[in-house]
Amino acid sequence: MGTIEGRTPSRRGLLKWGSAAAVAGAGVALAGQAANAAEPATPTKFAPLPVGAKPLPVGPEGYRLDKVGPEMYAVTAGGTQAAFVVSSKGVIVIDAPPSLADALPAAIKKVTSRPVTHLIYSHHHADHIANAGAFGRVTRIAHAETARLIKGERDPQRPLPTQTFTDRYTLTVGDQRLELSYPGVNHEAGNIIIHAPRQRTAVMIDVVMPGWAPFRAWGTADSVPGVLRAHDELAKLDIDTFIGGHVHRLGTREDIRVSREFVHDLWNHTTEAIAATPMGGFFGMVEAGNNWAGFRLWLEAVADKVEPIIQRKWLSRLGAVDVFTRENIITVALSHVVDAPRDL
Ligand SMILES: [Zn+2]
Repeated sequence: MGTIEGRTPSRRGLLKWGSAAAVAGAGVALAGQAANAAEPATPTKFAPLPVGAKPLPVGPEGYRLDKVGPEMYAVTAGGTQAAFVVSSKGVIVIDAPPSLADALPAAIKKVTSRPVTHLIYSHHHADHIANAGAFGRVTRIAHAETARLIKGERDPQRPLPTQTFTDRYTLTVGDQRLELSYPGVNHEAGNIIIHAPRQRTAVMIDVVMPGWAPFRAWGTADSVPGVLRAHDELAKLDIDTFIGGHVHRLGTREDIRVSREFVHDLWNHTTEAIAATPMGGFFGMVEAGNNWAGFRLWLEAVADKVEPIIQRKWLSRLGAVDVFTRENIITVALSHVVDAPRDL
């Protein structure tokens, strides 16, 4: 597990680790080995990762530096990614993850002596931008919702953006042009798409995980329908490389297509299961008035129907389909109740 998450596990990586340990601690499948809840689950607890989800080699520096376009680079370490574009007037950095506090500046120095002049926040989450303070007085660009959320956190390491937008924003720095756009609330309110046309690359964090099934609660999505709509927008882009923000490798248009197929498949099978599982009967199976218990039984019944279908279809295609899919089915079932989208 240590090698899977890399040398410096991200906050998200630690959460994953913690979840696995919690499952082990609960004795779900490791009864008798759960004395120490901090002990990671044995590798045999979960299905093996398909080839496209496995970790990639990391150099002696402790991070991966991938050139993704003529002037654009991605940095990966500890299961987290950031990116930067070298313009004729300075470096534009996309995100400042604390887990890349050393790797990102080192990678930039390796490529150019130009100073960092611009920092784009993909969204407000700490695991992606809570080292922003280290870049000092640069132009910081983010969605207006991201600015609002940052303001509430009072985190000195997440200074407020100096420039915000609501729908679209073109950032031109020297000879580089980046198109920033907002597809509506998705993984988080304010989570944007950053498209670098000349680099044939797009960045959107925490929506598509190349080679992997979604993290718990659809990647802690603020809006599950919004995550599906964001996939639709990403699928329209004419790009060669996609940077998703986590796990081990960069993606392609094909990774976006496969992720979109997965999330729609999970959504559609859950829709069918809900139609075939009337809710009312479950409330008669619990103490009168225990609404939570009745609802819980209904959610479990829906998950019982969908989980085996998804596992059969996807376990060999994406990483960790057996880890969070059941919870994600429940997340989708709740979204059906509260979001009730009519466009999916
Ligand atoms: Zn996030």
